Amino acid sequence: MSAELPSDAPAYDESISSGGFRLTKQRREVYEVLLQQRDHPSAVQVFNRAQRKMPTISLATVYNCLETLTQCGLVRQVNFDRGPSRFCPNTHQHGHFICTQCGGVHDVEVPDVAELSRLWRLPDDYVVNHHEFSLRGLCPHCADNPASVTP
Ligand SMILES: [Zn+2]
Ligand SMILES: [Zn+2]
Repeated sequence: MSAELPSDAPAYDESISSGGFRLTKQRREVYEVLLQQRDHPSAVQVFNRAQRKMPTISLATVYNCLETLTQCGLVRQVNFDRGPSRFCPNTHQHGHFICTQCGGVHDVEVPDVAELSRLWRLPDDYVVNHHEFSLRGLCPHCADNPASVTP
């Protein structure tokens, strides 16, 4: 179900310099945090993880790095209806499955636009230039462990 990042993931150094940005240790660290655990963390979660290796990094710096990485196209910012923005290092076309119980976010593959247009019988003269998919439900773990009603 998960869309794996292919081995030809954009080269960090290239993307960052073609975006006209300086390669800083902090930016690399933030990017690595995102690559290591692909659970679509929020900026605060990225900050907590980055701090383990880089204790002096500040939350403001993390926000900054995430913004730069997003601008360079290395990272995608994903917004769901509630909660803070989440960050995803999978820049290929994909949708998200959101677990309504634990809040987990998983990448899902989506067919290409031409195929979707056919499936949805979109008349030929419509031009699609953006699409976003999210599915909601329970992840395998939560499906096996339904939330008990708290007293
Ligand atoms: Zn879950
Ligand atoms: Zn994603």
